[in-house]
Amino acid sequence: MHCFDPRAAGAVQAVADHFGDEVYPGELLLSGAGRKIGSTATVFPLIVGGGRAADALRSITVSQHLFGVERVVVVHHSFCGATSFTAEGITSAWKEEQHSDISSLYDWDGIAITDFEKSLNYDVSLIRNSPGTPKHVEIYGLFYDIDSGELTELVRDVPAEAA
Ligand SMILES: [Zn+2]
Repeated sequence: MHCFDPRAAGAVQAVADHFGDEVYPGELLLSGAGRKIGSTATVFPLIVGGGRAADALRSITVSQHLFGVERVVVVHHSFCGATSFTAEGITSAWKEEQHSDISSLYDWDGIAITDFEKSLNYDVSLIRNSPGTPKHVEIYGLFYDIDSGELTELVRDVPAEAA
């Protein structure tokens, strides 16, 4: 999963290249009648604010149910908007502008980013500890530099039997 910031769009190809055994974007598979019946892609991007796992948990469950998942990769990127606000800032602005109290609506540690190593560790743990995550998956936390396009692995959670 990665952020909806257009500057982070290159992260998907970078993830495919990083692991080497992934296909993206791949090619569509057509039936004899020309209908789109599948794809050769093995990377399925989840695009969510900040690339935060809280927004992606349900999609991980659905992905496993539909086609199986081997690896979940969380990507947070440099100069992300999620580093520009705090829980206090967004909740007080919301109260003023939208006239509603969202202070207890979300788990704020899973939204704003103060430190990329912390946010990636937080999200990898969140995914690992969700009953909606299959036990066998490898989970990675990668930092994406939007200027160089470079990915740096900061967190790796690989179950012992898969290592
Ligand atoms: Zn971002």
